Amino acid sequence: MLDNLTQRLAKVVKTMRGEARLTESNTAEMLREVRLALLEADVALPAVREFIAKVKEKALGEEVIGSLTPGQALVGVVQRELASLMGADLGPEASQLNFATQPPAIILMAGLQGAGKTTTVGKLAKYLRETTKKKVLTVSADVYRPAAIGQLETVTGQAGADFFPSQATDKPVDIALAALDYAKKHHHEVLIVDTAGRLGIDQAMMDEIRAVHAAIKPIETLFVVDAMLGQDAINTAKAFSDALPLTGVVLTKLDGDSRGGAALSVRHITGKPIKFAGVAEKLDGLEAFDPSRMANRILG
Ligand code: GDP
Repeated sequence: MLDNLTQRLAKVVKTMRGEARLTESNTAEMLREVRLALLEADVALPAVREFIAKVKEKALGEEVIGSLTPGQALVGVVQRELASLMGADLGPEASQLNFATQPPAIILMAGLQGAGKTTTVGKLAKYLRETTKKKVLTVSADVYRPAAIGQLETVTGQAGADFFPSQATDKPVDIALAALDYAKKHHHEVLIVDTAGRLGIDQAMMDEIRAVHAAIKPIETLFVVDAMLGQDAINTAKAFSDALPLTGVVLTKLDGDSRGGAALSVRHITGKPIKFAGVAEKLDGLEAFDPSRMANRILG
């Protein structure tokens, strides 16, 4: 087991009790430990660097009050800064979906194959049915894996939402437009559009999802990313963030044993709120994202 950050810093700073302020010299070694802890949590290096620089800026000159050791004072700064980066300062509204549009509110799902998009569509449909009673329609624009269309139909049925059938021979843009037309005619309040994912990022996939985005102009474009992805999360997030105006992130598979450093990498790149966390395979395994809990998890 890894020591948690407080324990690690306590070891480093045993000899530094009684110092009144955090300084360049008394934080240098501790910041190295923070850096290591983040790397062990699989946060990508550019995100680690930016974070350490922020913590340093906030920490230097900070008074070490009362019975705290400099290590405890620094852990406080690290925790606050990480929670803030995870979105704690954005308030609870940050994790809400935007429905301020002429219905249907369109939600477009983007992400690599296996990230959990289709499962998340089912979870979102169920969540929206249960929490808002909205009439939800789902559609799959994944024409490369016919099984994906069937999988979406199954989870949509389980979620108690409506499913718009598509054919693998149709074009993704035509599918999305046909579903939108159907949703308008049948008074659906939400349309969730699932898209194809590849195992890696490729230009054709990006062009395709951009075309779908341009055709249906979703109010929410959610980037779905697997928390187990580790260091690669940063490249994937960059590719999707460059291609599409993302409005939020869904971090899946947080029930796995990763420390979830991907969350920090993805925030670093997209700057968009992580709106939901996937915490189980089953359809009730979706939670509003909790920034403080995530910060504690990353710190170990
Ligand atoms: P897609 O290719 O992006 O549509 O991904 P899928 O929705 O098909 O999900 C890929 C796999 O991840 C499936 O086996 C899902 O059951 C699983 N999965 C998705 N979300 C979660 C989650 O939050 N937790 C766990 N444990 N498994 C998940």
